[in-house]
Parts: sequence; structure tokens; C-alpha cells
Amino acid sequence: MHWADVIAKDLLARSNTQLISTGITPSGYIHVGSLREAITAQAVFKALKQQKADVKLIYMVDSFDPLRKRYAFLPESYDAEIGKVISEIPCPCGQHSSYAEHFIKPFLDSIAELGIEPEIHWTHKHYEQGDFASAIDTIIQKRELVATILREVTGRDVPEDFFPYSPKCPKCGKLSNGKVLGYEFPYVRYVCHCGEEGKADVRKADGKLPWRLEWAAKWKIFGVTCEPFGKDHAAAGGSYDTGVRFANEVLMNEPPFPIPYEFVQLKGKGQIHKSTGSTVTGVDALRITPPPVLNYNFLRYNPDRHIDYDSGLGVLDVVDDYDRAEKLFYGGEVDEKERDLLRAYEIAQPKGPREHLPLQIPYRHLVQVVQIVDDFQRVLDILKRTENIASMEERDIELLRQRVECVRFWLAGFAPDEVRFSILKTLPNVQLGEADVNFLRCIYSSLKVLDWNGDKIHDTVYESTKSCAIGAKSGFQCLYQIFIDRKQGPRLGYFLSTLDKEFVLNRIEEAIRSAIPSSQDT
Ligand SMILES: [Zn+2]
Ligand SMILES: [Zn+2]
Repeated sequence: MHWADVIAKDLLARSNTQLISTGITPSGYIHVGSLREAITAQAVFKALKQQKADVKLIYMVDSFDPLRKRYAFLPESYDAEIGKVISEIPCPCGQHSSYAEHFIKPFLDSIAELGIEPEIHWTHKHYEQGDFASAIDTIIQKRELVATILREVTGRDVPEDFFPYSPKCPKCGKLSNGKVLGYEFPYVRYVCHCGEEGKADVRKADGKLPWRLEWAAKWKIFGVTCEPFGKDHAAAGGSYDTGVRFANEVLMNEPPFPIPYEFVQLKGKGQIHKSTGSTVTGVDALRITPPPVLNYNFLRYNPDRHIDYDSGLGVLDVVDDYDRAEKLFYGGEVDEKERDLLRAYEIAQPKGPREHLPLQIPYRHLVQVVQIVDDFQRVLDILKRTENIASMEERDIELLRQRVECVRFWLAGFAPDEVRFSILKTLPNVQLGEADVNFLRCIYSSLKVLDWNGDKIHDTVYESTKSCAIGAKSGFQCLYQIFIDRKQGPRLGYFLSTLDKEFVLNRIEEAIRSAIPSSQDT
């Protein structure tokens, strides 16, 4: 059984009503790993829904967290913002209402494309509305117990004057790390480190809980029954452990069913965007492969399995794996393990699977074709010819358009140089020897009478390298040179088949002609 169905079964054994919570502190560009969390939550949500559970998925934007440091991508002026909450820091581009919104907006748009449309909650708004007031009051009342739990679970020292609430100072705008003078509901009286003395109303966004407590408070406020989180939180003495005790002993509610997930590590050469210079983000990952492929790449592994995300050549393998699963989904014998993969494929479809196998054009082919022509219609024309497609459904064209856009994004930003090429409009200045020219003559006459098909071209070229005694390596090299001025290139047969036959023949002829004087010299 697929892991999402196993978790759904466990949850249903507890209750038919479920609330899955996921979220992030949008303090900067959002890592690919955060996609895993959202995709994991969505998978369990979908599995529960299919089991007719009464289930809701919420996304918590932790917009009331402070900016902890000035990240490298921020201008120096942001030094002054450190310590302020990110819902009150200006957005770096000027187009969003806050720093938090600037970073979370593109991410939320992206997960919507994956079919993930949770109810969105902004932590700062819940503080403003007073939703945290009762939990804050309980936590402050029981602060000695809170300190004991923190000491026992984390093994760390907790100061005698520990106070589980940080007022937000209206003068310096920061979360105060000054001194608390006293508490009487609803006011916390304090002196800020800037010298300002004031009182914070716990029913307003005048201050916040430390995040370990805030997490537990959110479970109670929203009635969270299940939550995926990074495995660091699940470590012994980690925030899930403290959260469980806060829930059981302080706030008196049931802690949620945990889904700890392993990290996603960036691998391979292509993790830095070629023009922006920044590491591949969650938003990039969505533009590199279409949504169902990205979903599938996470869903096929158990949450406790580590995933390497390779935005370089590995992308091609991931898409091939997806296409294989897709084919299997629409027909064929499967074993137990494959059944889970097919279930992953099914969950991965934002709008559910189609009734029959969609048109499959391998990414590897598209990588070549989009480098030969710019225009989508011409891409279609080439594909119809090379892949022998009589007609395409509108939905298939859309699917293809999406793939083409992703391939272009990948080529421009992340693809390694060895897969990038451009067809030279004129014959480059290459030195061809006598053997090359003989080979080109021989290949010219064979290609001239050939059906313009990738496999046939490949076989013909290969045979000619033997019959003309040039050797496969030199023969292929010679052809790559006259078309793309490189010694290596895409798979030759398919590559030439995507080009116009006449263009190929003319180029070979031209190369022969231009080489004749130099071959006579020798
Ligand atoms: Zn912005
Ligand atoms: Zn202050």
C-alpha cells in the first residue's frame, strides 16, 4: 500500500474528522524541500478524501516570525529590519504588502499548480484577531511548568526569569529581548532593550510566543490532527517532543499525528541558476518539470527516505521514470512495488488521471527539438514528423506546450553545457581531412535516398563509418562539427531527423566542396 494510504488508514482509526496542517516561515527564497512538505500533506489529504473522511488542509504562513539575519540577497538597508516580524518588514521589490508576502506569494502560486489548494492562514492575522490570547494566557500562567518541560526535554538550561512571551516594541519595532516587569491578563508589562517601557496586550499583535510554544498553540487553536515536518523537528529533544508535552500538560489537547520527512538535497552540477546565480528554489523546480512530474518525484518515495534533487542531467531520468510509470498505469502487469508507484502517479495528477494514456514525447527529444526551432508550432511540426503522430488532441498539445516551456526554462537556467547546442546557420570553419571528405561523400549518397527517420539515419551513418573506414567516432565527430561545431552532440540519428532533409544534404555538400582545396594540398 502507498504510504499516503497507510497514514490515512492510521488517521481514520483515530477519527473521521481530520485537519492537516503544513506551513513555512517565508524568510527568503523557498527551498525545494518545502515542496516535499506541501506535497506530503496534500497526498494524505487526497487519500483521506477518497476514504470519505471529513478532512481539511491548512497552510500556515508564519508571517509573525522575526527576520533573524540579513541574507546575502538583501540590500544593506535590511540590517535595520533584523528582529522585526516579517509581516511588518517592507517587501524587497515594492510590489507586495510585506516581506512575508513577497516570498510566500510565488510559492503559494506554485503549489496551486501542483493541485495543492489549502486554506491559507497568516499567523500575524491570528495574533491581531486575538486567536492566540487564551493559549498565551495559559502558557504564561503555567510558565514554571513550561520551563520545566523545556529543561527536561531539551536538556538545556532555561533561565530562572524565563518568560514565554516576547512583546513587540512600538518604538524600535522589534521583538523585545528586554525585561518583563509583570503580567496581568491581558497585559504584559516590559522594558525593551531600546529603553522603551510599555505594555503588550496578548489579545492583539503586540507580541508573540517563542516558536516551540507557538507551534503547540497552533495545534490547539486550529485543532490540528496531522502535520508533516522536517526530520530535524522530530529528533529526540526536538520541537515535536516539547510540543507533545505542551499539548498534554499545558494546553490540554491531543498532539497531532506526526509525519516526519527526510531532507531533499540538491545534487549534480546544475543547482545554480545560470543567470541569477542563486540555488534552485521550489519555484524553479516547478518550472523545470511539469507539476505532475514534480509531484511524482516526491510521492514515489516514503517520507522517511532521503531524496536527491538533481536539477542537472538527472531531470531527464526523472521524466523518463515518470513516463514509464504513466505507461504502466494505463496497461500492463504490475507487482506490489509497482502498484505503489502507480498510486504515486495517480495522486500526482493535479486533476486526476486521464481516461487513456496521454501522448508521450520524451524530454530527451524535446531538449533537441526546442534548440532547433523557436516557435511552438514548428516544434509541433517536427514532432508530428519524427514521432509519426497523425493527430493530437487539444489536451495533448497543452501537455506538450507545458513540457516545451519547462525544457526551455531548464536549458536556459540549469541544463549542463553538454546538452546545449545551436544549429549553425552557415558552415563553420572546420578542418576536414581526406577521410572525412570520403565519408561525407558516401553518407551524402546514402542519405539522399533514405526515408527521413531517426533510426534509419543512425544505422546508415553507423554503417557508412565502417564501410568508409573512418571509424564511428571520427565519422560522428565530423557530422557534429559541420552542424554545431562541436565534437559531441545529441543522438545523431534523431538529431538529423529533426532537421530538414534538404538542409542536411546541402550542408554536407557544402562541407565537401569547401574541403576539396585543402584535401588536394595534402
Ligand atoms: Zn515584493
Ligand atoms: Zn524597543
